[in-house]
Amino acid sequence: MRYKAYSLKDLESIPQLKHLGKEIIDDIYTVAEIYPFKTNNYVIEQLIDWKKGIDDPIFRLNFPHRDMLLDEHYDKLIWGKKNGNAEALKHIIREIRLSLNPHPAGQTLYNIPRDADGEAIEGLQHKYRTTVLYFPSHAQTCHAYCTFCFRWPQFVKDLDLKIQAKEIEPLIYYLENNPGVSEVLITGGDPMVMTPRIFEAYIDAILKVDTIRAIRIGTKSLSYWPYKFVTDPERDDMLNVLKKVVDSGRHLAIMAHFNHPAELDPPVVREAILNLKKIGAEIRTQAPLLRNINNKASIWTAMWEKQMQLGCIPYYMFLPRDTGAQHYFAESLFTAFDIYREAIKCTPGLCRTVRGPVMSMTTGKVEILDYEQGVFTLRYIQNRNPEFTYKVFQAISLVKQPHWFDDLACFDPKYSDFFEDGISRKKRIISA
Ligand code: SF4
Repeated sequence: MRYKAYSLKDLESIPQLKHLGKEIIDDIYTVAEIYPFKTNNYVIEQLIDWKKGIDDPIFRLNFPHRDMLLDEHYDKLIWGKKNGNAEALKHIIREIRLSLNPHPAGQTLYNIPRDADGEAIEGLQHKYRTTVLYFPSHAQTCHAYCTFCFRWPQFVKDLDLKIQAKEIEPLIYYLENNPGVSEVLITGGDPMVMTPRIFEAYIDAILKVDTIRAIRIGTKSLSYWPYKFVTDPERDDMLNVLKKVVDSGRHLAIMAHFNHPAELDPPVVREAILNLKKIGAEIRTQAPLLRNINNKASIWTAMWEKQMQLGCIPYYMFLPRDTGAQHYFAESLFTAFDIYREAIKCTPGLCRTVRGPVMSMTTGKVEILDYEQGVFTLRYIQNRNPEFTYKVFQAISLVKQPHWFDDLACFDPKYSDFFEDGISRKKRIISA
């Protein structure tokens, strides 16, 4: 199979779509004014079960849906498309995008490394002591786009919404001057869209830094384009570049993104996983819990069991971040915890490496441990301040159906430090 991407301009050439009706197609065009859209021939031909129509989970994962926009945004867009001139429509689109919290977790405000002159280094994030996130400009696209993606601003044309590094030197400078950093997470987009030659330049430079012990690659290629590691003409070259990491004595972690067990069904996925494991990669899997796609415990149990069977390590169940179409995808924190617990209860021990449900935020990653009578017990798995890591704290909900940490409040002064991140959109500290 040869990779073929489909963007909005090719929509009409996808024959399977024609059976869904004009209204659905019109909505795809409208919603894709705000969120990026891209699919490919593998997703269309082998992942989506078109018999299920728009309820197919992979269809929902990949194709925009009218309800992914709030009514007020949808109406404004329709009005703009019908009545406004091109400039006016552009303005409406930008206004809506900016109102969707394009940079959750304070990505453009916090955790930005500085160079020797105190200037921000573009395309880098340093939140946790040992790990730096690197966003190479060559990786700022994916084999297909997910409708829930919290990195959606990376793929729209407003360049000032994008986080990306155009050069490798600032990263190397930063790593050499911060020996406490032992891991680089190369992310995007998807670094596995790069050609082996370009990817190799990044890997070679990072491997020259002695203090680096692990390289992580954040990718959804095993789901959206597994042929990358099986039949693509540059397969061997790419596997050889990845093998360099292992041969250098470092840990190579493929942070694989799967949202539904259907993504693991095609035999080519198993082949791709085996080829990666042959060169010594560890594959850890992660995904958010999403309404309309994977919000059933049985789906997660099946997914973790399949992953374990294929030799992957289930790692995280995340919650959808407070950006984009969170209103469409997020379950309440109560439901999310119930789904996680029900799912994990039914898995064998080898799957219980997975942690969840987890919110990844400005301050760190918070795991829900339990809830009872409206009181949540939580724990930071990671925090910018290591003092808070692995300490348990409690919170109550400010609303009937909390969907994010911002909906929770501190009710006991002894926990107040856990709530102060300085950029909360809601007041979260209430008196005891
Ligand atoms: S593959 Fe990853 S980065 Fe790309 S759209 Fe999907 S979630 Fe976002």
